Amino acid sequence: MRKPVYAMVMIPLCFFLLNHAAFAAPAKNNAYGKKLTVTSNKSTIDSTNQGPVEPTIRVGLLKGRKAVSIGADMAFVVRDINSGMGLRKVDNGKLEIISKGGGLHIGGKAIAGKRILLKSANRGRSAIFDIDGNKYRGEIEIAWKNGSFSIINIIPVDEYLMGVVPQEMSPSWPIEALKAQAVAARTFALKNRGRHDAEGFDVCTSTHCQAYAGESAESSRSDEAVRLTRGKVITYNGELIESMFHTDSGGMTENSENVWGSKLPYLRSVKELKEKTMPWQQKYALKEVQARLLRNGHDIGRIRSIELSPLTIGMKSSDRTQSGRVSVVRFHGERGTVAISGENMRSIFGLKSTLFDIKLETFRTPRVKVHISTPDDRRSRKPGRDSAIGLEGLPNAEETQADSRLRQLSGEDDENIVFFGYGWGHGLGMSQHGAKAYADSGMKYDHILSHYYTGTVVGKYKDNKK
Ligand SMILES: [Zn+2]
Repeated sequence: MRKPVYAMVMIPLCFFLLNHAAFAAPAKNNAYGKKLTVTSNKSTIDSTNQGPVEPTIRVGLLKGRKAVSIGADMAFVVRDINSGMGLRKVDNGKLEIISKGGGLHIGGKAIAGKRILLKSANRGRSAIFDIDGNKYRGEIEIAWKNGSFSIINIIPVDEYLMGVVPQEMSPSWPIEALKAQAVAARTFALKNRGRHDAEGFDVCTSTHCQAYAGESAESSRSDEAVRLTRGKVITYNGELIESMFHTDSGGMTENSENVWGSKLPYLRSVKELKEKTMPWQQKYALKEVQARLLRNGHDIGRIRSIELSPLTIGMKSSDRTQSGRVSVVRFHGERGTVAISGENMRSIFGLKSTLFDIKLETFRTPRVKVHISTPDDRRSRKPGRDSAIGLEGLPNAEETQADSRLRQLSGEDDENIVFFGYGWGHGLGMSQHGAKAYADSGMKYDHILSHYYTGTVVGKYKDNKK
């Protein structure tokens, strides 16, 4: 459920207009209500020509393939996308597709077209395709270019969401949290159509966009969440929002400009029901910290002290944001000082969040005095002798405080630097664990969403970019 920071990519409006004009909802009820028939790349036809149609999304499943065999749970046909010509019908078994010479071969025969579409042979019933053991609804496009091909899943948005929601949130969670997740994921998908346009699809299947695993991942509870929120999206001033979400905020979410550098009015820092959630700790030997700084171009030699205000959730300071996340850490070394941003700290040290503090830990061997007397000593009434014994591996309590801004290193070689904090992810928008806590407390999905996305409205999708 890890969500990395999304790059701030704004999709050009012209692309949207060009490719999705067919999705425009003409009726009074603007939410999409009908599935549509996909005919080819980015063109859709509402087969019944009645009412609004459900948008489709092009999901890039695999790239750079030389061969694949694809089966389905029912007969399917293969069409050349450009000419619209039917090439083959596969009643059962698998279709072998390979890249050979200057193009595609299907079932052992070369074909002229570079782009083909696999779809159910039964009108009105969609097939479930099997590709490398994973199952996908919708239709499959094979697009050949420069000696290999991409495999693209063309699928109505809500069927796509059925393969996303259970990947992003456990289907065992409360239904209102799952509904909030479904709406956030739908908003993301519709907002980001065309994100991978240069590669011939809209979204990828990794957390770069949203984790998607097709029909194989589906679960009845997450399907229900998608169905119960059909057509619902999050808007701000009538526009779809960048519906960022993350695993757990740790107690308070963050302002977008503190993570992206770009200020969005609906990605504001808000409090959570619970604080100090999902505690974590990451410990490094001093030498490892120095090595990691060096690898990232910070040659300050031996670290003498680390400067960072102590963490209080919801308290701003010169080196922390108002949620308490780290904006900068200063390392003072024998060859100078380096200031590293919270986000860079996260990537350099692999930290779960920037809501953290630092403590130092030394393993200076404490020695205790013990009195030793042997049975012979006791028999001969000798006094025995005193001896000092080292107790290894016990941290020196005096060195583990995190309450002063400047943490002075002891100078011992075996010192550890311990990062400890709360939450998981960038902290923008909805916290998934936070949404679960609100759902458990009885809050409905639309209130959960308007809590995390300031000033937004949850409403029916309206493709008004005509
Ligand atoms: Zn992506």
